[in-house]
Amino acid sequence: MTALKIQVNLTDSKKEKPLSDHLEFGRVFTDHMFSADYIEGQGWTNHRIEPYAPLQLDPASIIFHYGQTVFEGLKAYSSKDGTIKLFRPEQNMKRLNQSSERLCMPLVNEELALEGLKRLLEIDQEWIPTAEGTSLYIRPFIIATEAYLGVSPSKKYKFMIILSPVGSYYKEGIHPVKILVENEYVRAVAGGTGMAKTAGNYASGLKAQQVAAEKGYAQVLWLDGIERKYIEEVGAMNIFFKINGEVITPALNGSILEGITRKSVIQLLQHWNIPVTERKISMEEIRTAQKNGLLDESFGTGTAAVISPIGEFNWKDEKLVVNNGEMGGLSERLYNTLTGIQTGKIEDPFGWVIEVEKPINQL
Ligand SMILES: *Cc1c(COP(=O)(O)O)cnc(C)c1O
Repeated sequence: MTALKIQVNLTDSKKEKPLSDHLEFGRVFTDHMFSADYIEGQGWTNHRIEPYAPLQLDPASIIFHYGQTVFEGLKAYSSKDGTIKLFRPEQNMKRLNQSSERLCMPLVNEELALEGLKRLLEIDQEWIPTAEGTSLYIRPFIIATEAYLGVSPSKKYKFMIILSPVGSYYKEGIHPVKILVENEYVRAVAGGTGMAKTAGNYASGLKAQQVAAEKGYAQVLWLDGIERKYIEEVGAMNIFFKINGEVITPALNGSILEGITRKSVIQLLQHWNIPVTERKISMEEIRTAQKNGLLDESFGTGTAAVISPIGEFNWKDEKLVVNNGEMGGLSERLYNTLTGIQTGKIEDPFGWVIEVEKPINQL
């Protein structure tokens, strides 16, 4: 592998770390950050780890006006044996590039990006919380930094990785959530940017989320943008249904974001010989299954919650309760298995977890 020259500039004033039972999501950041700069014609340069600090950017930077940006999200766990574990991080770097490709942004060298992340984790490893359910959330992202108000791809970019210790998603135990099926707003359409992790998708989803929250719902269920019939995603998670023993998830269609948790759930189900199908599935089909008592379970999947069981759908003011509003057995098995593998508590038969090793002769 190409040796990556990373300049390291350590902070001389380490911050106080939050108590592990006071951790929220994404509010506190570690002492250091990884950065690299891209200039057209030169490629990525100036890879460095430096003290976490605000950026100075030209107000005309393209990111502020036209949203040319991509991001990723993954977690590092500190396992009982003291090692740092990452769950399928190469998949995140691959997806970062797939998103960049859609947004006309330069690709990063996936191996080198991962190397940069590992170095950053070694440096800030004291920040990885150890309490049950806690982890260090990792946010890689790229922003367009050229100062130019013309609508065209930027000639300059910044790639960064920041880290945030996060608390358990399920502090009060896992309780299934209520979901409002969204009939007006849409998240994405095929041909748009739904399959890329890019800022605009999330900004455009806020309105529906706000309306759902006001009505007492945890998330919205996104339907297809053309007929408002077919199920796409739930909030910023992929969605699964267990109907009459078979597990179904919407097939990738150009607007759904392909989650790494989704991919892992499919692989696990196949490994367990539980039938799993990726196909189009309509809200009408869910309603019929529920009426016939065949809707066994439903759950969202994503890095933050891993598995988020769903207890009720509200579709056009009709309440469709799933499994008496309780977590189903398959949801629980998937949650325990995935989190067990991620934290090193149970064996990883797939080679999904990689350990960050302290390199010799570095620093
Ligand atoms: C990130 C994301 C997911 C889940 O992806 P994971 O890799 O499983 O975390 C699903 N849907 C959307 C819209 C997302 O942004």
